[in-house]
Amino acid sequence: MNTQYSGIAPKGDLLLLQKLGEKLKNRSFLHVNSTRAGGGVAEILHRMIPILKELGINARWEVIGGDERFFDITKKFHNALQGKFETISEEMWQYHFEVNKVNAGSLNLEADAVLIHDPQPVPLIEFRKGGAWIWRCHIDVASPIKEVWDNLSRYCGKYNATIFSVAKFAQAMPVDEFIIAPSIDPLSDKNRELSEEELRETVGRLQIPLDRPIILQVSRFDRFKDPIGVIKAYRLAKKYNDCILILAGSAATDDPEGEMVLNEVKEHAAGDPDIYLLLLPPFSDKDINALQRIATVVLQKSLKEGFGLTVTETMWKGKPVIGGATGGIPLQITHGVTGFLVSSVEGAAFRIRQLLNNPEMIKRMGESAREFVKTNFLMTRQIRDYLSVWRCSAL
Ligand code: UDP
Repeated sequence: MNTQYSGIAPKGDLLLLQKLGEKLKNRSFLHVNSTRAGGGVAEILHRMIPILKELGINARWEVIGGDERFFDITKKFHNALQGKFETISEEMWQYHFEVNKVNAGSLNLEADAVLIHDPQPVPLIEFRKGGAWIWRCHIDVASPIKEVWDNLSRYCGKYNATIFSVAKFAQAMPVDEFIIAPSIDPLSDKNRELSEEELRETVGRLQIPLDRPIILQVSRFDRFKDPIGVIKAYRLAKKYNDCILILAGSAATDDPEGEMVLNEVKEHAAGDPDIYLLLLPPFSDKDINALQRIATVVLQKSLKEGFGLTVTETMWKGKPVIGGATGGIPLQITHGVTGFLVSSVEGAAFRIRQLLNNPEMIKRMGESAREFVKTNFLMTRQIRDYLSVWRCSAL
């Protein structure tokens, strides 16, 4: 573990991890969420469990099951907790509990520490068999539909501690509360160093010209990511600086709105041969890595955002990011130091031009950006924080 990350993660974090690992050696650490694939939580757990094991901790990951009705209900929770009006009947709350009860019967919930991720498995606390139980909320519950939060927090208040991603996304809780930001794994395919040959392969396959500066945004096709705003900003900048624009994102799957946004983007981009719309299949990690590395200027012009992992991913590659001043983005971008925060199309266009005209500035800010990620947003730091919370909450 130390050898893998030494020279990459801060020495102090690695030392603390090693010490915490010694204290918690052979003790069991169970993570529970509701999906093994798709979404940031699963992505982080896939990388984190092997690291915990390497530290000598007996780490496990269990996934709760449920039928369509269960996940329809928990999707409504998700929306309501993020402020969208939803009515949740008493019967729905009861079903949420019953499905968790069935899961409690089939899953092995015995562990020295249990980290429950998000609202779906939160009632499992009623079936606790000992150990420190911690609830980890990955979503923005700053302005929830009150009734839904009140009902859910009946369970949350029974945990030893709770963890939120960003201070302003949290709710005051009657139990210990910690803020632990998400992180990236510098050794994953999305973030590891790529060889010249690997870069060439991606550029060739995706048919990207390298004769002009590249403006990039990687995002799901979602209105809140403002892809149309990105096109407008690129057009303003292009009047003065010749460049190409790459919008890379996933194809709409079962999200009707995603399909609609993608069509709007296609309409706006039509007729401009310098706009590259790349529809990336799932598991395009290496391609995303390569795109972030070959880009000259990277945007994350969100109008509303959770944390915005793409910002950290890009900064880790030594690039400043022009990001919307929203959600977790200002935590990552220090305006004028590791990138620029913008609130309009014109602002984004101005910053694109400023960076295109100052390669030295890109280099200088990019170095600060990478350093900032190294200190704050690598997975070793997140594991260090989880283990510290466990140690503090141990019974
Ligand atoms: N991503 C991806 N394929 C895509 C678009 C995005 O794998 O087509 C990745 C991106 O690299 C990042 C994550 O999905 O790791 C998106 O996380 P973020 O917090 O930026 O936004 P979210 O989509 O969760 O709102």
